[in-house]
Amino acid sequence: MHEATGMKRLLGAIGSLARRLAASTTVAKARLASPIETPEGSLRAVFEHSAVGIALLDRSSGIVHANAALERFLGLELSELSGRRITDFSSAEDAQATALMLDEVASGARENVAAEARFVRRDGSIGWGALSVSSAGQCAGVQLIAVLQDVTERKALEAELVHQATHDSLTELPNRALFRERVAHALTRSARDAQRIAVIVLDLDNFKEVNDTEGHGAGDRLLQVVSRRLLSAIRGCDSVARLGGDEFGVLLEQVDALAGAESVVERIVSSLRYPVELGTERSFSVCASVGIAVYSGQEDTEELLRNADVAMYEAKLRTPGRWVVFDRAMHTALIDRVSLEADLRTALERCQLVERPRLANTGIFPAFDSVRRLPPEFTVAYQPIVDLQSLKITGVEALARWTHPTRGPVSPEAFIPLAERSGVIASLGRWILREASRQGAAWNATRQDAPLTITVNLSGKQLELEGIVAEVDSVLRETGLAPTQLVLEITETVIMQNAESTLTRLRSLKRLGVRLAIDDFGTGYSSLSYLQRFPVDIVKIDRVFIDGLRHGTDGLALVRTILALADMLTLRTIAEGVEDSSQREQLRQLGCHAGQGYLFGRPMTVTEIDALLAAGTARAAPTQ
Ligand code: C2E
Ligand code: CA
Ligand code: CA
Repeated sequence: MHEATGMKRLLGAIGSLARRLAASTTVAKARLASPIETPEGSLRAVFEHSAVGIALLDRSSGIVHANAALERFLGLELSELSGRRITDFSSAEDAQATALMLDEVASGARENVAAEARFVRRDGSIGWGALSVSSAGQCAGVQLIAVLQDVTERKALEAELVHQATHDSLTELPNRALFRERVAHALTRSARDAQRIAVIVLDLDNFKEVNDTEGHGAGDRLLQVVSRRLLSAIRGCDSVARLGGDEFGVLLEQVDALAGAESVVERIVSSLRYPVELGTERSFSVCASVGIAVYSGQEDTEELLRNADVAMYEAKLRTPGRWVVFDRAMHTALIDRVSLEADLRTALERCQLVERPRLANTGIFPAFDSVRRLPPEFTVAYQPIVDLQSLKITGVEALARWTHPTRGPVSPEAFIPLAERSGVIASLGRWILREASRQGAAWNATRQDAPLTITVNLSGKQLELEGIVAEVDSVLRETGLAPTQLVLEITETVIMQNAESTLTRLRSLKRLGVRLAIDDFGTGYSSLSYLQRFPVDIVKIDRVFIDGLRHGTDGLALVRTILALADMLTLRTIAEGVEDSSQREQLRQLGCHAGQGYLFGRPMTVTEIDALLAAGTARAAPTQ
């Protein structure tokens, strides 16, 4: 601001000096014609030695005289300047605007105008000048005075600053701010030209893994490779940006239809698949989740970007490594998920608070009393597991239940994945484990002769937690449940992913004395003999196979095979989803050890389990 005012004053002062000089009659004559001692001479000296370029122009803006600074600025001699119009040196972009400026003053429409403009110098380079044009008044031969301050360096600096503020320094790609601006421009143009526009958001699926295992240097190189591949996969009229972290954006202009956008995406995705060498031992294949939003003519910039984001998020959930095209329903579903996730967090905080009143009033949690009065949103339901020979209840599976204050019961199939994604699963899982263990210890205190087995589900995310083994250990100590009476269930799919690190964790858990079960067996496409490597004790045969028993010999053969294999590996077997007595009989005859399902009882409250236990068998009382 100060610099600008200072500059204005300086140009003003130089302008008035030049005006007085222009008024002197000898001005058009050769340089240094008058001795410096005369007033006119000193004026001329100021003109000549001024650091700012000055030109005296005639009626048609031809140069009558120019000082040394202007010669230096343009890299031309006075003789080459004389008689030429100043606009002859203008850059193509600014020539018209500059000519207009000069005309305005020459015609008397304005006394003085100023603007920054580009000029082409002798060597072809562009020089930026702060040009100020004023009228020379009534003066023979000279009508205009142009004062030109060289601002090339400042302009370069400004451009550099703008570049830094709008580009990512690692990949040199435009950043999110510039991308947004480009999308906004494209939308404005599209309104005029009826073009079709699509925005693509792309998020790398395995970037974190590269960063964690190979270091940040390798991660950076990966991002650079990705940015180059994106640039080569797009067309000239499209642009690529790094939106942050491992997220990239692509703006497609002039796509005919969705198919056009999809073909670009296809190119992008396949170009990313080629292995990337990062100078480390392994080479990587890049996998990305991609969201596409096609402009419908309705959205504003933010909306279009958000839609692409939503589609990308959906792609991550559904089909990592593929692309998903945005539709409205997705947005509603997302909003729903986000609000449910927030509620999940709140409910959990309350739950923890009831357990640990000390946390109240710490600023993080609401006052304890206000919370205690509310009914708990989280509870644990217990489903009986029954020995198929004796039909006695040998254990229970703890299943989380969430009753939302306004929505009512939310299925664990909906909130467990939500809790996993948001990280809430760590505290939710801990709470369930503690609650179930406490309850198990209470039951077993009165059942020394036939203690119940308490089964708790462990999600994949929980198994990844650093402190999971110590946590299970501390819960067992705290609640007094015998480790041999705790079974931790891990789904087959989780065991298959990350096999090595999972193996280490499972071994440590086993050392605590707890038993491990493979949940939903048969749905993860692994072979039982492969699973032999894992220190599991129990196989829970997924409901779909038990269902299959109803459908004739094929179903029976499948279950028989699974049971035979489990037997060879000396694994205990539990059939899931036993709903009728014919299934129960078949399973018993096939030698399956235990069963769980609506036939024996749905997941139920502690009181209901107590009633079943008192009745001796689970056969009589399937509730609900
Ligand atoms: P899961 O571990 O396979 O649990 C068994 C599910 O099958 C339960 O559903 C149970 O209600 C249902 N089920 C039991 N018997 C029958 C039957 O005879 N017929 C039919 N059709 N269904 C039966 P639920 O409680 O809705 O839980 C669904 C899934 O949510 C669980 O499947 C488990 O993967 C997950 N889940 C539930 N509670 C927890 C938890 O505390 N932690 C974790 N990580 N996951 C949990
Ligand atoms: Ca389970
Ligand atoms: Ca299961």
